[in-house]
Amino acid sequence: MKDYFESKLEFINTETREIKPDPKFTLLRLGVISYYETFQASDDRYLKPYFEGGIPTVYIWHEYILKNYSSIKYIHLFFEQYISEILLNVSPLLVYGKLNKEIDLINAITNKWDKISTKGRKVGYRQLLIRMCELIRNDEELKENFRVPSEYHFIEKHEEGLISLSILRNEIIHSADKILPMYVYEYFMVNKVIPLIRDVLNLDREILNRNNFSNLSTIEELSKITLPPVEELPLNLEVIQNTLNRIFHLKELGRATAKNPLIMDKYVGESNYTFVEKHNAPKIKIAEYEATFKKENQKGIDKIYNCPCCGAKALITYNLWEYFEENIAVAESAKCLLCTYKIRREIGEPHDFGLKCDKLYHKYEINKADNNVENDNVS
Ligand SMILES: [Zn+2]
Repeated sequence: MKDYFESKLEFINTETREIKPDPKFTLLRLGVISYYETFQASDDRYLKPYFEGGIPTVYIWHEYILKNYSSIKYIHLFFEQYISEILLNVSPLLVYGKLNKEIDLINAITNKWDKISTKGRKVGYRQLLIRMCELIRNDEELKENFRVPSEYHFIEKHEEGLISLSILRNEIIHSADKILPMYVYEYFMVNKVIPLIRDVLNLDREILNRNNFSNLSTIEELSKITLPPVEELPLNLEVIQNTLNRIFHLKELGRATAKNPLIMDKYVGESNYTFVEKHNAPKIKIAEYEATFKKENQKGIDKIYNCPCCGAKALITYNLWEYFEENIAVAESAKCLLCTYKIRREIGEPHDFGLKCDKLYHKYEINKADNNVENDNVS
């Protein structure tokens, strides 16, 4: 007998009730956001856990493990469905056909493909992936009805990354007792996974791309970055540190872009302009008022800036540390009260990494806080 709740399941995406983008893209979205969130999940210790004496380290905070596992699990799940669906649309035979019975073999060599069973369980994912890549590699020799549409041929060059993804995912769901060192994870995501996602999004830009005030597509920008494998790390890690800082800035921008409650779509037509204004204006007003109120009533707040993610003047900088010996104070961190964008001085000025933002971290003499003197040498 069917399980009670299984019998209650309904299709989400139907002809009469179409959902766009397709629900499976929520898996990709969840995975990508989890990847972005690994940055905040490393708490205030952004840089330290990456290397110890030049060797990549393992980071074991719960929040970090959660985000790391989620990113791998969901991104893999998305590709499992994505690839299976492409093959299914070419021919159900490619997803269900097992050729494991003598009769199937005879049907195959006698070219009676429609006689081969397409019922029962799907072929395992790894097998589907191999089928997909082999079909693409042999595209020119295939009959028209078995050809994978050429727009999906990019998948073949990501075969290695997709296999690694499925291995890592299996480790998580079967044992969950291992994790990649932070640097290796970052290397895997930036070199293998992000370019693959970029290629998927190239087919349909509207799926995940939310705009932000800096006009930066985080997936696009991250896909331009490459990290060297651990074995080829230079002795001087400063160059790597700078690349990692760039990745951190983009991850935080990506995370906050996903959380931003404002409509930032630059393609909104004129007819929708009033709607967007009505939707955004009160939210901006409340956040900006809150920022001003905090600045006037709370100690440790330096200035208010326009946020590089949502654009509202609700990004407040904090100077919780004061260097009494030198008689100066320096803003240490910044946080937007509207979109949740949050960043610390250790990874450098957002401005220096291409974000649309004034310089945030300047020092000033204590007791002269109202006459702040900018000094870029501090950060
Ligand atoms: Zn913001």
